[in-house]
Amino acid sequence: MKPIEEYVVSIPDFPERGVIFRDVTSVLQDAEGLHLAIDKMQEKLDGIDFDVVAGPESRGFIFGVPIAYNMKKPFVPVRKKGKLPRETVSIEYELEYGTASIEMHKDSIKPGQRVVIIDDLIATGGTTEAIIKLIEGMGGEVARIIFLMELAGLKGRERLKDYDVDSVIIYP
Ligand code: IMP
Repeated sequence: MKPIEEYVVSIPDFPERGVIFRDVTSVLQDAEGLHLAIDKMQEKLDGIDFDVVAGPESRGFIFGVPIAYNMKKPFVPVRKKGKLPRETVSIEYELEYGTASIEMHKDSIKPGQRVVIIDDLIATGGTTEAIIKLIEGMGGEVARIIFLMELAGLKGRERLKDYDVDSVIIYP
């Protein structure tokens, strides 16, 4: 089996000139790559005491659900505005261009629950910071945050410096 890094295809100048896009679909479409990605992310939860996995639409679902299933924990989705049918909590946050809104069901995290956040990639950390605010607003505590990939140059980890963050692959 190849190291996990070798399953990621990097695409220069996508979606715009100067950006190197790290494509997670190249990992998913390989049976060994998919296995390795889930296993490596899950290993980072060894010894961590937690109650719930939360993952954002849509690639946080891909990695969050199998990890929650394997560890016999519930999974709660973080969705784009307007998709969840019951009462929600929502937050608006800054993107590179404009803003975005994400939501969680209001009863998805109970006060005192320890929550693990799982996503495919951290860039600036803005999405994760917004998710943390939703979880803490419901009285939850963020136990650990796991990414498959981290674009370290965008300094997302500094933005999340008060939290326990770990990534399987770190790009400079
Ligand atoms: P952040 O909020 O700036 O940390 O952005 C995180 C989100 O941007 C991730 O959930 C990804 O979906 C997306 N993203 C940014 N850069 C890349 C990339 O190179 N490959 C894949 N997704 C990316």
